Amino acid sequence: MTDCIFCKIITGDIPSTNVFRDEQVTAFRDLNPAAPTHILIVPNKHIDSVNMLTNDDEQLIGHLFTTAKQIAAQEGIAEDGYRLIINTNANAGQTVFHIHLHLLGGASMQHPMG
Ligand code: AMP
Ligand code: ZN
Repeated sequence: MTDCIFCKIITGDIPSTNVFRDEQVTAFRDLNPAAPTHILIVPNKHIDSVNMLTNDDEQLIGHLFTTAKQIAAQEGIAEDGYRLIINTNANAGQTVFHIHLHLLGGASMQHPMG
């Protein structure tokens, strides 16, 4: 998708602080961090949102989560804990329409869910 910010990060057309990359997913630091550690993990393939997932994407979405677990360990936040969030559409505040898993940690969360 040519006008997608995260597709451009994946291709390297927009710079990012890369954390991890393999054939299926890319992880980079959020530009506007909401926690001491705030990393976005995205599929290399463009998918607008959770609403657009199909059964064929199940392995890929599982891989997003195992990648998050691995990065949490690398960042040293696995034991203390972290939060994984995927926002979908307006009520959740989704602003970039390329699925992304937020990995937040490094401090105790002050807000309950929602
Ligand atoms: P969401 O509100 O769930 O759609 O999250 C989008 C996230 O992308 C926000 O936390 C933004 O700070 C982040 N973001 C937007 N543009 C960039 C960028 N160029 N590099 C890194 N993070 C970005
Ligand atoms: Zn995209």
